[in-house]
Amino acid sequence: MQLLAEFSSKNRFKIILKGIVQGVGFRPFVHQLATKWQLCGFVTNNGSGVDIEIEGSKDGIENFLSDLVSNKPPLSRIDNLEKEQVQIQNSSIFEILQSSSNQISTMLSADISLCCDCLREMRDKKNRRYNYPFINCTNCGPRYTIINNLPYDREKTSMDKFTMCAKCQEEYTNPNDRRYHAQPISCHECGPKLKYMNLLGEEEYDETKAIEKICSLISDGKVVAIKGVGGFHIVCDARNTRAVKFLRDNKHRPTKPLAVMFKNIAGIKKVAALSKKDEKLILSKERPIVILTKKENSILSELIAPNIDRVGVFLPYTPLHEILLKKLNFPIVATSANLSGEPIILNEKEIFTKLPLVVEHLLTYDREIVNACDDSVVQNSFNDVITLRMARGYAPYSFYLEKKASKKILALGGNQKVTISLAFDNHIVISPHIGDLNSIDSNEYFLRALNTLKRVYNFEPEIIVCDKHPKYATSCFAREYVSNNSNVELIEVQHHYAHALSCMAEYCLNEDVLAFCFDGTGYGDNGELWGGEIFIANESEYKRIYHFEELALLGGEVAIKEPRRIGLSLLFACFSLKEIKNMRTPLLDSFTKVEIETLYSMYERGINSPKSSSLGRLFDGIYSLCGYTESLGYEGESGLILESLSCKSKTKSTYSYTLENGVIDYKQMICQIITEKFNEKIAKKFINTLVKIIVEISQKYPTLPVVLSGGVFQNRVLVSQVTKALNKYYIQSKIPINDGGLSLGQLYFALKKSED
Ligand code: ZN
Ligand code: ZN
Ligand code: FE
Repeated sequence: MQLLAEFSSKNRFKIILKGIVQGVGFRPFVHQLATKWQLCGFVTNNGSGVDIEIEGSKDGIENFLSDLVSNKPPLSRIDNLEKEQVQIQNSSIFEILQSSSNQISTMLSADISLCCDCLREMRDKKNRRYNYPFINCTNCGPRYTIINNLPYDREKTSMDKFTMCAKCQEEYTNPNDRRYHAQPISCHECGPKLKYMNLLGEEEYDETKAIEKICSLISDGKVVAIKGVGGFHIVCDARNTRAVKFLRDNKHRPTKPLAVMFKNIAGIKKVAALSKKDEKLILSKERPIVILTKKENSILSELIAPNIDRVGVFLPYTPLHEILLKKLNFPIVATSANLSGEPIILNEKEIFTKLPLVVEHLLTYDREIVNACDDSVVQNSFNDVITLRMARGYAPYSFYLEKKASKKILALGGNQKVTISLAFDNHIVISPHIGDLNSIDSNEYFLRALNTLKRVYNFEPEIIVCDKHPKYATSCFAREYVSNNSNVELIEVQHHYAHALSCMAEYCLNEDVLAFCFDGTGYGDNGELWGGEIFIANESEYKRIYHFEELALLGGEVAIKEPRRIGLSLLFACFSLKEIKNMRTPLLDSFTKVEIETLYSMYERGINSPKSSSLGRLFDGIYSLCGYTESLGYEGESGLILESLSCKSKTKSTYSYTLENGVIDYKQMICQIITEKFNEKIAKKFINTLVKIIVEISQKYPTLPVVLSGGVFQNRVLVSQVTKALNKYYIQSKIPINDGGLSLGQLYFALKKSED
């Protein structure tokens, strides 16, 4: 009787999982769960995820299912779970079956920082991987950066050339080991080796000596290069102003902030104000660079982030970094090794050929970086996490689409901070940050990243989407691609509409929204340069309902580097030449009389003075009205400095503006600004005014959800104030709020269009 009861209470279920469920320890996890709940059956990888069949008691199956979802491996992500009752097979064991198909497997996972278990082992003198700089397990280590192709198996990665020793092999094949199928598994005996090199051709292969050598050079104030997971870092003592100055002078990077890596959170707390949320972000498994507010009088060199009150910090994310920081015991500058505007450097040779004046010594290892990947950059703004650069740890980033894409779509982004997005089947994939496409090397880098995604996902586009700007490298590439592949459709999307779409895509919005796209310049529908746009938009179309009054970029491109030209054009818009000649301000003093006259006649006649409604450029103009007349050291410097200034003022007052005929006219504001005495006040009142404008316009459309996107929203003060003032809003968060988000917006538009 008892036997019969047991028999009849037995069930068998088939479970199909989709998402990031391969190469993340999912099958051994399922095996352990099945054992725990005394279930029989099997688990296997298939072309699109993981298939499970379990057989056993009803309770056991229920517990199994709840554990499956709530305790899944840290790197996994379940996008879809289908379950179906099937015929009982009376299995007697639970097994991990070999993957049957060689179809494209699921999504690529991003590289993940060193996990606690590996860290513990690495610090344990008795462990065979004590101080092993490449320790990893199923829950941590490189992925994207070492992968040549999917499925994610060792022979398809750059670990291929390292033959596992017997001990590693045993761990790799044991389902109960935490390194079961950890593809980059290795140890002192069988894994990659560290090597010290210098410009003179000297080399040191002994691991301990190589580490000691590089650490003593850093301690002595030298600038060195260290191979990280997605490329080389340039490294020096972050407290040593002479070293940092040497780096800046020779890398031609006068003021752009440098990221600093700390041994631990306690070290960060000494130099920056840290909220609980910041701490969580810094310690997250993605280990991004997090932008914090600097404390005064810290041990960091003043040259780390000159003239601003922000600093980008992060913690060691590879075992090698962990070893180095422990040994050094002081914070280090760790900035991507590249030439200004170029992609991150991947090999030793390029370090010495491209940066011979910066770096004479380096620490490297013999595992190839297949796909480059920069560090990610994020910040907290009041309630929201804002992504400034989506790369290591986060990207490639994938979404699951409920509705299958009807065509294969490739979106290429803009010209700066480029990312690539793909749509196929039920997937959207966004590439890591590629960068600015202004040089031959960066174009090659772009093609490499594109080819990696095409190869890995076996992807050939049927639709290709680009920006409307006729001269962006990505637009040229798209046009050429389509002219060589007549069956591929080309879609162009306006830059700022793509910003709005990107935010809509992130939150799956498909209704009409009120989008504030505050940005640098982008090509507008009327051929002018837009960038301070307010749209009513949905997935298919948009209407420009307001924009900032156009200002003149005196000298075109030059004005973007030299903001004083924009400041001058703001004055030209508000005053006569005679009035201007009678004014004395640092801005006007930076020009000769003749220069002012020449620029005025250019302005008057509209010669080489393109019009722009860009808010980023208005920031440049206001910055120069504050008396900053030198060329910008990097894109966004004016905004960061105004942000820092604004933090020092508590004023709640605003400047005057008018909203008429769809134009936000701020001429009165300019007249008010030139009478102000304190820059802190100008900066704060300017930001207050922007907040007021957003609130006023959104009140005119109370039923529309507000969407905030574009590079200007990297400004933390603006975002904190705006989001406090609005009841309900959507701000770009996981996807970069700057041009790094464009490709997703473009893709979203094409997805909708291809459905129709
Ligand atoms: Zn680990
Ligand atoms: Zn080994
Ligand atoms: Fe933009």
